[in-house]
Amino acid sequence: MLKYELFEKAYSMLDILTPLKSDCGELCNHACCVSDDEDAGMYLFPGKEVMYAEKPNWLRIEETAFTYGKEEKPALIAICTELCVRKLRPLACRIFPLTPYIGHNGVVNIKIDPRAVPMCPLAKPYGAKRMDKDFMLAVNDAFKILTQDKEIYSFVFDLSRLIDEQESIMSCFAPPQRSQKRCRAIHRRTRSV
Ligand code: SF4
Ligand code: SF4
Repeated sequence: MLKYELFEKAYSMLDILTPLKSDCGELCNHACCVSDDEDAGMYLFPGKEVMYAEKPNWLRIEETAFTYGKEEKPALIAICTELCVRKLRPLACRIFPLTPYIGHNGVVNIKIDPRAVPMCPLAKPYGAKRMDKDFMLAVNDAFKILTQDKEIYSFVFDLSRLIDEQESIMSCFAPPQRSQKRCRAIHRRTRSV
């Protein structure tokens, strides 16, 4: 299947599903759509940019420093300059606060995006339990399909390593004793190289 067809399929699977059956934006005043940082945005999955061939006037698409795959292709980011037209919002917005994740065993899964934790009530441990199971299953199924494409798989694999790094940094600030020990171990290894 062509990337375009894969995205169409993924979109149709997620079409009517959102993190909650009600409007989750009421929990947080739509925190994920409001940012003072003009350069903040959402990653575009590879090939997704073709769906914005006629770019809406609320959208900027730019290259990022994050690269993926053997060719080290720069990932693209979508930055909305005002509230988007909902039916055109990027895939990353549709699945937020979830992200696809590929472990070192190569298995495609989904998890809470650690980058969502500071702003999204549903990304907190007590909030995640409230998330609509149909939504979670659909995101999971959509990425099983999307990652059949080698480039998308490679992007998600490398993105997962960024997520690993972010979780590792976040664990340094977590209160339990075990996390603090883990951080010290990381620090020691870094110094001995
Ligand atoms: S920050 Fe989380 S709870 Fe708030 S609108 Fe976005 S996805 Fe929904
Ligand atoms: S593109 Fe739309 S859904 Fe995504 S952050 Fe911007 S306003 Fe929110």
